[in-house]
Amino acid sequence: MPATLETPLSAIPDLPPRMVTALAKEGVERVGDVVMWLPFRHEDRARAADTIFHPSSQPACHQVVVVKVGTKFFGRRGGVFEAQVEPAGGSALGQRLTLRWWGMTYMSRVLAEGQRLIIYGRIKEWNGRLSMDHPEFEVMEEETGETIHTGRITPIYRLRSGITQKTLRTAAWHAVRALPDGFLPDLLPRPSAAGEFAGWNRARALKAVHFAASMEELEKARRYLALEEFYAYQLRVVRRRRAVLEAGGLCHAPGTLALDFQKALPFEMTQAQKRSLLEIQRDMASPAPMNRLLHGDVGSGKTVVAFAAMLAAVENGRQAALMAPTQILAEQHYQNARKWLEPLGVNVALRTGNRAEEGGVELFSKARSGGRGQVVIGTHALLYDEDLLSDLGIVVIDEQHKFGVAQRARLIQKGRTPDVLVMTATPIPRTLTLTIYGDLDVSTLDERPRERGKIITKVRPASKKEEAAAFLRAQMEEGRQAYLVYPLIEESEKLDVTAAKRGHEEWSKLLPHFQVGLLHGKLSAEEKDAIMRDFRAGKIDALVSTTVIEVGVDVPNATVMYIHHAERYGLAQLHQLRGRVGRGQHTSYCVLFVPDKDEEARERLAIMEETTDGFRISEEDLKRRGPGDILGKAQSGQAPLRFAELLADTRLVRLARQLAEKSLEEDPRLLDARFSELRAFVFQEDSPQAMMQ
Ligand code: ADP
Ligand code: MG
Repeated sequence: MPATLETPLSAIPDLPPRMVTALAKEGVERVGDVVMWLPFRHEDRARAADTIFHPSSQPACHQVVVVKVGTKFFGRRGGVFEAQVEPAGGSALGQRLTLRWWGMTYMSRVLAEGQRLIIYGRIKEWNGRLSMDHPEFEVMEEETGETIHTGRITPIYRLRSGITQKTLRTAAWHAVRALPDGFLPDLLPRPSAAGEFAGWNRARALKAVHFAASMEELEKARRYLALEEFYAYQLRVVRRRRAVLEAGGLCHAPGTLALDFQKALPFEMTQAQKRSLLEIQRDMASPAPMNRLLHGDVGSGKTVVAFAAMLAAVENGRQAALMAPTQILAEQHYQNARKWLEPLGVNVALRTGNRAEEGGVELFSKARSGGRGQVVIGTHALLYDEDLLSDLGIVVIDEQHKFGVAQRARLIQKGRTPDVLVMTATPIPRTLTLTIYGDLDVSTLDERPRERGKIITKVRPASKKEEAAAFLRAQMEEGRQAYLVYPLIEESEKLDVTAAKRGHEEWSKLLPHFQVGLLHGKLSAEEKDAIMRDFRAGKIDALVSTTVIEVGVDVPNATVMYIHHAERYGLAQLHQLRGRVGRGQHTSYCVLFVPDKDEEARERLAIMEETTDGFRISEEDLKRRGPGDILGKAQSGQAPLRFAELLADTRLVRLARQLAEKSLEEDPRLLDARFSELRAFVFQEDSPQAMMQ
């Protein structure tokens, strides 16, 4: 009977019983346990029989013949087993190589003259003699000449205690051989037979991902499995998108308010802003719920676009909500909304966890439902306000990555799903948006408002404090303001606060005639609000702060940002922080302080001096850290894709999207049937965060 994933390993021919026992001890008992334990990388140990040995600093694979064996003993217990070998293809230069196993004299029972071996290790040369210590090796079977661990593209597994690489690989080898073709059904609908994956199926890909005959085959297998992953992901994305559309939405044809709003602005909207607004208004006017991402670098002016869009809902008699990720940001949006929208006769309310205000009048928490507000600004506490949810026309979610799928799902209501606009400054390379925000339409602000002062960025040694202070005084004498940022210290908020407090004392002394404020996460919301209000009003000249000011804060008169211990930040985060300056017409300055002799940091941060383009910086970040990390950070979860390379596999994402659309077209309930299987296979950590929303 052919093996299946359920077959016990003890029934697999040729798998040594001691290995079966060792695996069973760790709970690895069935063929499936081994086959689904996927290698995390491969080594190319394939090598034709060579005739010359080359010493090298890298380990390599060689086919050899044993010509002489012997053991040398020293002292009472020490000893070394040596085997002299020649290249299996014949020794062109008469070379011999000595393989040595220190303290392993029992090797004399394993190796014998005349055997053919595949060895893997580093050849050293000393006094004209070639040697290799403790090579990985394998005796070649006479009949087949086949090897498992060497002489091929060799899978390397991430191990758990108690199981060795060799045992697992041997088990995988025999398990894969015992399984028939097509030992498990495909998840993908048949990709077009003529396409890249002609002749491929899931079973073949899984086998090849363990033992591939060539690097090309391995890559094809990886791509096939990556396509499966993207497909599973896109099925959910497409279905989520359909669920929203089916729920039915609201029509918000824009009237004249948005035009009045634009006329009253102290600046002209950029072309990119106008284009995005039109795209948004078109979505809003249609009865299908809007599901759109407004994507633009820091300072590209997303907020005014959002306000203008919200007015269409207001004109249609519904409430419009703007959700910010932090209290500070909600407060800032509220101030702006009052400034810009109240003159148009629109009534604006603020609702956060601990504050409710309308038109500048404080409400008691009980009065929540009393003050309605045509435009309501708040934190995600808004999502739990049932009255608001039932009347909501549009919700704008600022800095979207702080919200999860579950929270967004709360917005979907039968027949009256509000329009949703999410905004992010996380500079995601275009190729990733389809993956990450696959269920959203995208508008991009690819143009910065003109009349912006430029930002000059410098990386400086921390010891230059005096000069930095002198420069700061000069700027403040001209009426400008500054952020003095203190860093994360080993992820501990408490220590951050200490550092910021010390920084505050220090700067207060260095800047005797100016107001130096202090802002950190341990302050109450009221205290934070009060400080930000004073800073915005110019009553505070320099604000010493932890990274609580990282997202969204907008004070155009602030032109200096000093970031202490800049070496502790990622480039993307520095870019976000720096985005707090350069928001007015004055030239701004961002100084990144690093320890005096930290050349590595200087080199890494040099890109910040070169460019203020978030996309370039994120590409640099990707290069240095890999996409998993970027996604991880941006989405504060773990990227769930194992085979997929998010940057390289764009074509696969598109193909997966088409396949998912087609599959759901044919069978809308498909996902329910296959979901558990897809989940088991693809997603290791299936939290909403891991789903990258
Ligand atoms: P972000 O996209 O980072 O959220 P904001 O919406 O906070 O950016 O806008 C940054 C600053 O630029 C704000 O002070 C805003 O009033 C201003 N602004 C927005 N659009 C324009 C424009 N077209 N011209 C000049 N200034 C603008
Ligand atoms: Mg913003």
